[in-house]
Parts: sequence; structure tokens; C-alpha cells
Amino acid sequence: MKWFLLMYAIGIQSVFAQQSDSVMIRTIVNEVLTNSTSYENLRVLSKQAGPRLAGSPAYAKAVKIVSKMLKDMGVDTVYLQECMVPHWVRGEKERGQILLSNGKKYDLKLTALGNSVGTGAKGVTAKVIEVNTMDQLHKMGSAGIKGKIVFFNFRMNPIHVRTFTAYGESGVSRTRGPSLAGKYGAVGAIVRSLAINLNDYPHTGTTVYNDSFPKIPAVAISTNDAEYLSKQLKNKTVSNAYFRTMSKMLPDVVDHNVIGEIRGSEFPDEIITVGGHLDAWDLGEGANDDGSGVVQSLEVLRVIKALGIKPKRTIRAVGFANEENGLRGGNKYLEIAKAKNEKHIFALESDAGGFTPRGFSFDMTEAKRNKVMQWKSLFHPYGASDFTIGGGGADIGPLKEIGTALAGFIPDSQRYFDIHHAATDVFENVSERELKMGAAVMAALIWLVDQYGL
Ligand SMILES: [Zn+2]
Repeated sequence: MKWFLLMYAIGIQSVFAQQSDSVMIRTIVNEVLTNSTSYENLRVLSKQAGPRLAGSPAYAKAVKIVSKMLKDMGVDTVYLQECMVPHWVRGEKERGQILLSNGKKYDLKLTALGNSVGTGAKGVTAKVIEVNTMDQLHKMGSAGIKGKIVFFNFRMNPIHVRTFTAYGESGVSRTRGPSLAGKYGAVGAIVRSLAINLNDYPHTGTTVYNDSFPKIPAVAISTNDAEYLSKQLKNKTVSNAYFRTMSKMLPDVVDHNVIGEIRGSEFPDEIITVGGHLDAWDLGEGANDDGSGVVQSLEVLRVIKALGIKPKRTIRAVGFANEENGLRGGNKYLEIAKAKNEKHIFALESDAGGFTPRGFSFDMTEAKRNKVMQWKSLFHPYGASDFTIGGGGADIGPLKEIGTALAGFIPDSQRYFDIHHAATDVFENVSERELKMGAAVMAALIWLVDQYGL
């Protein structure tokens, strides 16, 4: 019966390990909740750099700001990774109207979609045709669409408790819709904003052109305006729609990933990454998307330094370049990792807003996931024990190619799509307390991976 005694001893040991882990995690959480600089860092990033789309002077400023924050934390090294990024500029303020059959005009609250071509100074004016599914679009084909403006009225499905599911479903209207409309000869695309509630703010975001189809100008209108336009179309009171955008794509320019690193004491070759994207859409301040992810990642390093933890493995906080309209920063990070033959054992991304933590999603082998799942109960006291199978995040996604175990921080998603990519994504709409709670559980997870490996 010796095996039984051995199993018993291992059981006791793991109970003790869990107890000491829970004490350590409590210490980490206490440090964040008491001394975190994340909220102040977010204020500085949001107000001093502000909207910071790839290639903009504001992005270069954000790189300087974050580098300084990392240096001030006293991490071992702070460095940049150069990458070429698309340089899209919005140009003059957009405008647009619905021209009603009674001769009246209704001003639309609209924004050009990221990466979209402009209309030129004259704008586009045409009949509008509404579609609610891609099937409808394909069925109409060129016969129904040629010469018209296609109105993609894809409402985010409110029944999904995780709002990202609705975003994933309806997102195709913005990402692929305009290009497909161009394929069938449309002259413009109007997309219902990917916002889950009704409001007056247009939400921008990337649209992707298929190079084999004509590129047509594309805008997003507020959800309230989408409801209005749809109603007028049903009542047959719309004669035309008009919009004017002066956006254009310029040649690629140089931007940078920003990296702060604490070198591992036992296994320095094993790299753990925690990050978010430093670029942000230009309508707001990129406070939730993804300033919060960046400052939370920085906070993980600050806590390690503040508590005098000597990590076994090398831990990096990364502010990735150009997630929003190109993902060049994430791709560059992988390219350099491969060129240097680096061993990336784990990466965690926070890019779902600075809201109350709920848990993490894991994208890794079953064996690694089983190990991670044993830590679930340690997160229960902090409301973050929702451990699910799912993607890590866009910026760390490329690391999957070299076998890196990935995780995504999951905050509560109910309010994210009120402000996502809109003028309302500002510092004032981030809760200090919620931001810090997120940073705290992220630091706890990174500490566990550092402690036990994967
Ligand atoms: Zn984001």
C-alpha cells in the first residue's frame, strides 16, 4: 500500500502549495489595490498621447510615454521593436445625409471606416438598399446592387451574454461588407455601428478590401441613425443618401512595439509575455481599447518589482503596435522571436476593456490547460475564476505558430460595446477600481506561470 501513502503525501503537498499560493496571490492583489500606478498611467496615456492610430504622431508620443513608465518602474531593460505599419488618415470631418422624398434632409452621425478609401470632395449620392445578412447581399447580386449605396444593418444580437459573441457574428458587416458590396457594383457602403445599445455615436473600425474587387468608400452610422434609416426605407420615404469622406491610405511608415523586461533568475530563456495594444482608434482616447490593457500589463511588472519577487523566468510587458488596422506589431514580435530562436512559454493579453475581471480564456494543449485549470479556485475570491477555452488575443495570436500557450483576460463585457471604437472611449469611462482588479488577477496568473512553468 506504499503507493497509497505516496499519493496521500502528494495530496497533502498540493494542499499546502495551494495554501501558500493563495497567500502569495493575496499579497499581489493587496499590492495592486493599494499602490497601483495603472490608473494614473492610463490618465497620462489617454490625455497626453490621446487618439493614437498607427503612423500618427500621437502613437510615437505614446511609445515615449510608455517607455518612460517602464524605466521609472526600474525593470531590467526597456527597448523598442521597429515595424512598418499602414498609415491611414481620416482627413476632413466626414458628413452625410439622408435625402427624404418630401425634400427634407436628415443629417447622419457617421464616421469613415478605418482603411477605407474616401469619396473625394463631391461625395457619393445614390439610392440606398438595406441588407441584414450576407445571404441577402449575394442574392441581390449586381442586378440589385449596381450603382447603389448598400446599407448593412446587422444588429448585434442582444441575446448573447458575452457581447464579444455578438461582435464576432455581426462584425462581418464592417470587415467584409463594403468590399463585397463593391464586388456587386455598389458606389458606397453605410454600416450600422457595432454597438450593442442604441446611441448617437458612430463606432469606427477596420474594413478589409479584397484587392480583386473595386474599393468603395465606407462609413459607419450610429445605431440610432441605423434605426431611423431602416424605418424610413420601410416607409419608402428615402429618395437618396449622400456622404462625403476624405480619408486615404498613405505609404507605410515606421512604428514600434514597446517592451519592458525583467530577466528570469533560473530559466531566463523561458519567456512569459503580458501585453495589450498601444495603438488606438482616433475618435476617442483609446482608454478601454486598449490603454487599459497596456497599463495593466505594465502593472504586472511594477508589482513584481515592488514586492521584490525574483521571477524564475523572463517576464515581458509589451505594448503592441498597430493591432487595430494591421496587426503588424504582433506579427513583428513573432518574427523577431523566431529569428532569435526564443522560447515563448506563455503569453497573456488584455484587450477586452478595463472592466471588472471575470476570468481568462485559454488557448493551449490539453495537458497545459489541465495544469492551468488547477489554479482556478485561487481566482475565486477575486471573482475571476471563469476559466474557459478560447482565444488569447490578436497581438499574441501569431505566437501560436511557435507553440506558445496563450491566454486572454476576460473582463465583464456588458459595457464594452457602448464605447468600443467611439468618441466615448475616454479615460473618464474607465473605473479605477475595476482597472486595478483586472491588473491584480493578471499579475496573479503571471506569477503562477512563472512559479510553476507550463
Ligand atoms: Zn483592442
